[in-house]
Amino acid sequence: MNQCNSEVKIVGKGNRLRKKSHNFHVKFTKRPMRAKYYFPAVIMIFLLMVAGCKPSRHAYALILHGGAGQITPATLNDSMQHEYTKMLEAARDSGLRVLANGGSSLDAVQKVINILEDCPLFNAGKGACYTYDGKISLDAAIMDGSNLKAGAVAGVSDVKNPITLARRVMTSSPHVMLSGEGASEFARSQGIEMADSAYFYTERQWKAHLRGLDKLHKMGTVGCVALDQYGNIAAGTSTGGITNKRWGRIGDSPIIGAGTYADNKTCGVSCTGTGEYFIRLDVAKDVSSLVDYRKMKLQDAADLAIQKKLAALGGTGGLVSLDKNGNPGISFNTEGMFRAYGNSDGEKFSGMFK
Ligand code: ASP
Repeated sequence: MNQCNSEVKIVGKGNRLRKKSHNFHVKFTKRPMRAKYYFPAVIMIFLLMVAGCKPSRHAYALILHGGAGQITPATLNDSMQHEYTKMLEAARDSGLRVLANGGSSLDAVQKVINILEDCPLFNAGKGACYTYDGKISLDAAIMDGSNLKAGAVAGVSDVKNPITLARRVMTSSPHVMLSGEGASEFARSQGIEMADSAYFYTERQWKAHLRGLDKLHKMGTVGCVALDQYGNIAAGTSTGGITNKRWGRIGDSPIIGAGTYADNKTCGVSCTGTGEYFIRLDVAKDVSSLVDYRKMKLQDAADLAIQKKLAALGGTGGLVSLDKNGNPGISFNTEGMFRAYGNSDGEKFSGMFK
């Protein structure tokens, strides 16, 4: 017996413990743990440690669109279809890589939209359509579903990537939306990359401008919704608007709730189509509210907003969306809509026709 230890005998009886002390002799008397309990106990402790050390990873997903309109095999030949598919999938895969590496949904949305803005195939950034006066006038918005913060720009003509500027409005200004010359001034003060009219020239859009309003060439707005590993949803949209727009016309894309919306609680939405109708119906927020208040499944909410409500007013277009689990909601009432989706389970698809 070790004389340095005082002895405390703990005797369990029912729920009560009785303690007996004998000078400095301490002895713990307890039942030996049965071997059959050791293994599960060790596993349990290990699992608790793993859960405590690593932030739990949420499944991630991303969806994008490249505009809706008269997109049919008759209006797009095989090589054009191939070009569009290649770009949509490349942009999607870049966004998925951001998410796979632990990047935020905002980073993924910006990345995808920057790629599409730099591509002359789409009516955003480099490939933007012309106004009636033969100028460029770009709109964009981004929204963070984790805190409902948002940034938007409208009617800018000299910013290379309007979605980048929209994000900066959200993060570095006290405002939600800036327009025209003021937005450009803010962009310069933030060191955002500017571009001149020569950069935005594309033969395709110039011809469309000269021909007048034309269904095929007014499509091509781009948008993206992402859900990251932390469960945060972001949505963004960028556009040149509609060919030969006049009088400083602004569409739905930069209007939070009309063309763009995100809320972690419900979903993220990016719209494309005849902006005036999307503004009147607040389509993006409407989809979120249908999920929130009416507990609708996202796909049903998207269909109600586009196939019923938008169609009833005579509006045309579509939307892409993601719910908080990364399930896609896609709806359009035009002949086609460029789109692509991917998630952390490796599920992927892209398409353009019905
Ligand atoms: N919604 C855009 C606008 O009205 C155009 C489009 O998506 O095609 O400006």
